[in-house]
Amino acid sequence: MLQTPTAIERNPLEYADTATPQPKSGQVLVRVHACGVCRTDLHVIEGELPARKSPVIPGHQVVGVIEKRGEGAIRFAIGARVGVAWLHQTDGTCEYCRAGAENLCDHPKFTGYSVDGGYAEFIVAPEDFVYPIPEGFSDEQAAPLLCAGIIGFRSLRLSGIKAGGSLGFYGFGAAAHVAIQVARHWGVDVYASTRDARHQNLALELGAVWAGGTFDEAPKKLDAAIVFAPAGEIVPAALKALKKGGVLVLGGIHMSPIPSFNYDLLYQERVIRSVANNTRKDGEDFLRVAAEIPVRTRVQSFPLHEANRALNALKNDAIPGAAVLRVSE
Ligand SMILES: [Zn+2]
Ligand SMILES: [Zn+2]
Repeated sequence: MLQTPTAIERNPLEYADTATPQPKSGQVLVRVHACGVCRTDLHVIEGELPARKSPVIPGHQVVGVIEKRGEGAIRFAIGARVGVAWLHQTDGTCEYCRAGAENLCDHPKFTGYSVDGGYAEFIVAPEDFVYPIPEGFSDEQAAPLLCAGIIGFRSLRLSGIKAGGSLGFYGFGAAAHVAIQVARHWGVDVYASTRDARHQNLALELGAVWAGGTFDEAPKKLDAAIVFAPAGEIVPAALKALKKGGVLVLGGIHMSPIPSFNYDLLYQERVIRSVANNTRKDGEDFLRVAAEIPVRTRVQSFPLHEANRALNALKNDAIPGAAVLRVSE
């Protein structure tokens, strides 16, 4: 539980007892088995995102089983294995929801940010925003699919990359290590730029055709690139790597300021776009594709009470793949 946003080096998460939440109408109570650790959790905990609820339990890559159903909740059987992701709920009525862009909803609620999340034994969520988890993934393997996986998938879609194309990844953490598996499955060549040698090695192991430092020049111009790292200074370098008409997707919810750059880096119809949240359809489509491929996540697991340690490791680039908290079996 987070009381006050603080640098993670000061271990701000407290291991505390709270009342078990009760599912309201249309909600389910999920007994948490595992919860992935996301860069966004770090942004919430360190206060880079403005607080929406305090105190708050972070975590939005939750895998568990249905423990109890609120009134009218009939979609899942008791004991069914499910996932809870970042998008807790939308209003369903704003212009964005009505246009099929619920990821841009005017009145969204987010798991582990505006409502309590999955660094806990129990979590409640509206059943309509809960995903069935495909068989073939262990709880810990499935957890990083729910944000790293889904957001990476949406980033791939927004990049417009096609089979035979060349795609750059800037930063090679949890999202990129899943997205590369989808990209390879689509017949896309991936060029990975990342500062940590372990992450470069993981990229090569997962089929990148090239891996180098963040500001090293890839051996060829790219059709598109995705910036996963929250570092604005990467944007001009990534633009420089693009072909004419290339698309640069910024995959994070937070980024340090982007330095100014010459217009000629953007001219020739290059495009920069961000990714905000995801629709439920992105999540459903991704989980289906992930099961088909099948995606294999690399996870390093920590017991729940070591959440601070997991987040410190994430901040220090010390997690190849994804960090996951083990909650219960
Ligand atoms: Zn809405
Ligand atoms: Zn996330």
